[in-house]
Amino acid sequence: MNSKLKFIYEGKAKKIFAYEDSDKVIIEFKDDATAFNALKKAKFEGKGELNCLISSKIFEFLIKNKIPTHYIGLKNNNSMIAQKIKIIPLEVVLRNTAYGSLCKETTIEPGAVLESPLIDFYLKNDTLNDPLLTKDRINLLKIINDEELDFIINMTLKINELLKKFFYNIKLDLVDFKLEFGYNSKGQIVLGDEISPDNCRLWDLNQKNDTIVSLDKDRFRNDLGGFIEAYSEINKRINNFFKSNDFSSI
Ligand code: UDP
Repeated sequence: MNSKLKFIYEGKAKKIFAYEDSDKVIIEFKDDATAFNALKKAKFEGKGELNCLISSKIFEFLIKNKIPTHYIGLKNNNSMIAQKIKIIPLEVVLRNTAYGSLCKETTIEPGAVLESPLIDFYLKNDTLNDPLLTKDRINLLKIINDEELDFIINMTLKINELLKKFFYNIKLDLVDFKLEFGYNSKGQIVLGDEISPDNCRLWDLNQKNDTIVSLDKDRFRNDLGGFIEAYSEINKRINNFFKSNDFSSI
């Protein structure tokens, strides 16, 4: 990255730099992988670039489908230009199939397909280990008002419908994903962060039997190996799909 750029913030997987226009930022994707609130850490060469390229294609697809996002364009293969947003401290998780924490915290069996999508809210707070919230707790903490909460729920459900189709086209089952939203300089709520195998569970549909083949961060969480290969495979499928189709064909 150009050393003249003014550094603003560094998170677990990304660095933020100021852009020429004060209402925009540059988001650089790092090669670091973390799991379990950063108790587990590793570096995978090429991960930043893959997540940036995958995210950019997904943001472009969502924007074409009228979802407001912070994404503006790619700066290079591992950094993107985005609207500067004030992040709302909520992790919005939508689940189509039960897995991960839902199965650790309830009696639902891993792999159970949910009758309708479940939306869980977590407080974005590493010190507290991102605790699960209720609507009343969101109100109590005055994180967002009821109208904004409804807006975020509706937007998340819409994004789910779009992403399910997007991934189904490239033979991936969208199990669950985490979104973050923020306010842009006009005060509008837009989708922020990234959409990549770091924050989506994606199971390969190219399997003859019912075995679960994760092409996402579970490969790192659960020491399954083939981490970069899985991320590369997703990027390859997305690129191949868009070589012969455009966004309107999804
Ligand atoms: N997730 C995320 N960041 C987090 C926690 C979860 O991106 O800090 C994503 C995760 O990759 C998965 C979904 O949210 O796609 C649901 O995760 P879950 O609550 O099952 O937690 P986990 O199993 O990761 O502990």
